[in-house]
Amino acid sequence: NRKLVMIPGPTPVVRTIQDQMARETVAFGDPKFVNDFKEVIADLREIWGTSGEVFVIAGSGSMSMEMAIANTLKAGDNLLIVSHGFFGDRFVGIAENKGINVDVMKAEWGKVFSAEDIETKLKEKHYHAITVTHVDTSTAAVAPIEEIGEMMKKFPDTIYIVDGVAATAGEREYVDKYNIDILFTASQKAFGVAPGLALLWASEKAMERRKSIGSIPEYYVDFDKWLPVMHDPSKYYATPAINLIWALQESIRIIKEEGIEARYEKHIDISKAMRAALIAMGFTILADEKNRATTLSCCLYPEGIDDLKFRTVLAEEGAQVAGGLGAYAGKMFRIGHMGNIDMLDMVGAISAIERTLYRMDIDVLGKGVEVLQRKLME
Ligand code: PMP
Repeated sequence: NRKLVMIPGPTPVVRTIQDQMARETVAFGDPKFVNDFKEVIADLREIWGTSGEVFVIAGSGSMSMEMAIANTLKAGDNLLIVSHGFFGDRFVGIAENKGINVDVMKAEWGKVFSAEDIETKLKEKHYHAITVTHVDTSTAAVAPIEEIGEMMKKFPDTIYIVDGVAATAGEREYVDKYNIDILFTASQKAFGVAPGLALLWASEKAMERRKSIGSIPEYYVDFDKWLPVMHDPSKYYATPAINLIWALQESIRIIKEEGIEARYEKHIDISKAMRAALIAMGFTILADEKNRATTLSCCLYPEGIDDLKFRTVLAEEGAQVAGGLGAYAGKMFRIGHMGNIDMLDMVGAISAIERTLYRMDIDVLGKGVEVLQRKLME
């Protein structure tokens, strides 16, 4: 039977994007491909509003994290990690491996720090950079990145790094307007492309920082090495992921067709409907009501539901979701509702959850689907 990929990334890949990956691969110097790559970079620059640089290279989200750190900090520098969960914590290992001094603000899972909380910490000592995870995929809580960006204007010597892996193209983000120095994501989340591409935006300030730190130990993720390629994709540094770049181009075409603002509004509507349906079926949402992400939800099980059984039966019923991470392993599941999902995906997933609960002796047949459809039809 078919399985809906409702984990929070990879997300469902629509047919027209899949078709791009099935195309016959050409040489990376092929003039048509070079032109397509140029277009992708120009569109990303324009839609996310940056006067800085855009990098698109083969790799996953974790590589983008490493790229952000490697190009803005050197051993001995101070980094403030604002962690809202599992993926915020991932920066600790990346930075410590490079000999960077790390301080971590750890939020209780489901809660996020305000701009004021972070400002207080930044006043204590000089930080060369801070990282904020826009949506931590372990909690589905969304950080106030616009307010934080505004506050960061008081700290012009600190680089503001935003992890947009579970947010970009689903949650509102404008690079220059929000005063972000580095924003990054990966292809498999709200762009709805298969995994394998890292996308990164770097402000002029970030590029100046890269210049000021001189040579860096990293070879593959060095801004300096990739910049000539991003300015002229007919140049070679390392082989581009040709078919994935075409797939990304198609994803961007879809985004342009619907309009980025409409896409953000769509994510808000979808997330509200999905959460209402999940609550109607008896689940509790982990994140505080005022900071729930539009891209995914973390759903705590009602009493007596075994996590592994739930997810196994759900997969049999046609939908795959992810388990909880950290202390929430076994206590909740995580469901993505981002990218290019449509009504059929949502109804399909919610009805599969209903059938799963039915098979686990909880009869809510029809309840989730009714709430979902009413919300979406209103
Ligand atoms: N940051 C966030 C917020 C994520 O959700 C993820 C992946 N789930 C990552 C970073 C790491 O990305 P990847 O798994 O593609 O390396």
